[in-house]
This record gives sequence, C-alpha cells and structure tokens, in this order.
Amino acid sequence: MTTVKLDILEQLKKCLYLYIAPTPHCGYGVYAAKTFKCGENVIVNDNLDYFQDEMTREAALQKGYDINKDCFEHKPGYYLAPEGNIDDFMNHSCCPNTGLIFDQDGYAVRALTDIEKDAEITYDYSTYTFCEQDVFDCFCDYANCREVISAFSTLPKMLQEKYMKLGVTWTG
Ligand SMILES: [Zn+2]
Repeated sequence: MTTVKLDILEQLKKCLYLYIAPTPHCGYGVYAAKTFKCGENVIVNDNLDYFQDEMTREAALQKGYDINKDCFEHKPGYYLAPEGNIDDFMNHSCCPNTGLIFDQDGYAVRALTDIEKDAEITYDYSTYTFCEQDVFDCFCDYANCREVISAFSTLPKMLQEKYMKLGVTWTG
C-alpha cells in the first residue's frame, strides 16, 4: 500500500460516526451517526502539518480564495485553506452544538451539548472570524438567530465570555 493511500485512511478515521448530507438551507452539512456526550470530541485532527500552510489575508486573496467561503481564520489575520477533511462541510449555527479547540498539534471539534444521532454538527463561525469585513447571512432555525454573522468582536460581551471560558475561540 502506498503512503498516499495510508494518508487517505488516516483522514477517514477523522470521519468516524459522522456523515455528510444535504441541509435545508446551507448546501451540505455534517451529521452525527451516533449520539455524542457533552464534552466528547467529535473530530480530532492531530496532523502536525496542519498549520504549515497558514496564510495572511493578502496571500489568501492572491491565491484566489474566497475568504468567507473557503478559508478558516484560526487566529487573527492568519487563514487556513480547506484541508479536504469532513469538517470543511461543517455549517454555522447561532446555537451551536460543538466548538473548536486548538493547540499546537491541531484541533478538536468538541461537543458543547449532548448531541442526538442524526443531528447536524455545527459551530459558531464568529468564534473563528476576527476581521470585521467578513460578514455573511445566517439562516439557522434558532429563535435567537443573529441573522448577520461577523467577527468575534461583534458578539454580545456575554457570548464572547462564554466562548472564551469554553476555550472555543482564539485566546492568544
Ligand atoms: Zn443563525
């Protein structure tokens, strides 16, 4: 078996108990194929090369990326291109059931609530958006949907503090 194929198999392990399916409003989404407990890791990416290709905003634009759609701002001013992993399909929700936790080795997508089987896996895009130019409309079904989603700094202070306490945003 070639190394490339082994890499693909390693990638597949990150999709355990998850599947991709169309959503009502947001293209494809990631769904739970089993229940997850609050605090459980839903996806772990410990690929040590994960941060190797981080780019500045200028570099990402120069390479032709649509920052809002394609890129992930893992810390202020630094963007990662889609990795070809299942979480590239994860949608935003204003009432997310997971959050992203980074360390120097990679990241984990961690359940913030108990998650039912067949529930869509979501996180709050504002937790990893730091440029106030980046704005998009939200169509999540949550009663308190913010409707316009932008940078972390635009969130209500209480929500910022909640996400900081949970460790699901960049904290420097
Ligand atoms: Zn919303």
